[in-house]
Amino acid sequence: MSPTLAQITKELLKSYNRFPRKKLGQHFLVDPQVLQRIINAAELTNDDLVIEIGSGLGIVTSEIAEKANHVIAVEIDKELLRISKDVLNKFQNISFVGQDILKTHLHELVLGRKFKIIGNLPYYITAPIIEKIFESEDKAEIAVLMVQKEVAERMAASPGSKKYGSFSIFCQFYASISLISLVSKSSFLPWPEVGSAIVVLKPYKTPKYQVKDEKLFFDIVHAAFQQRRKQIRNSLAKFNLEGIDIDLSRRPETLGIDEFVGIANFL
Ligand code: SAM
Repeated sequence: MSPTLAQITKELLKSYNRFPRKKLGQHFLVDPQVLQRIINAAELTNDDLVIEIGSGLGIVTSEIAEKANHVIAVEIDKELLRISKDVLNKFQNISFVGQDILKTHLHELVLGRKFKIIGNLPYYITAPIIEKIFESEDKAEIAVLMVQKEVAERMAASPGSKKYGSFSIFCQFYASISLISLVSKSSFLPWPEVGSAIVVLKPYKTPKYQVKDEKLFFDIVHAAFQQRRKQIRNSLAKFNLEGIDIDLSRRPETLGIDEFVGIANFL
């Protein structure tokens, strides 16, 4: 019988005398079904260039390398990078980048080529990574990300839901978002303290929403959700909404993104 991913991971850590660094969000994926769900969601073809965020011991990396044309594995922990280089030495189509993803310019990695992103993310920097994906001048075709369950739910939430808030609007302004699978703690080694979920982001190549002033738009969204129980008449009192064609007694969680866009453009 071939060893399980959990056995392989334990053996690797032991033979290199390593312990997972929780501070760096090191929870290695050891569930082959979840691994397949990630790979399937990315719809990989042998043309694809993939950036993997936080490649760890290389378990996900090797699956990507089997299906894609090239993988750029970005990993901050130089020791893990060295281990994964050893483990994956049969592959000619992996570039290893020992860097902090937040200090990495995606453009310098992809040089104008089309690309996809896959990442079982270090949860302590989920939001800055997502911001980086959206703000990059080079737009990924798709990003398949493992994130904390609550974060995934907020990313995908619709108006009317308790989870809907400024982070939902931020994400859905830039991309279509789907939460495709919940993932239990036992799929990782060591177990994280929180549940997880796989989300698929498809960043819009041309903006879906036409806002005249993006900063003002997000200022309004933040002001509204800072006092989410209040009517927008009160939470948005500092903006002059006199004459706007929207019921100001509504609460922010009932407003769709297009309505927030309407408010921003009215101002
Ligand atoms: N991909 C591996 C897997 O699925 O088993 C590891 C995933 S683990 C949840 C997250 C990985 O991100 C860790 O290997 C960690 O060292 C790495 N990491 C943490 N902070 C990082 C950063 N700022 N830039 C790049 N990688 C980082």
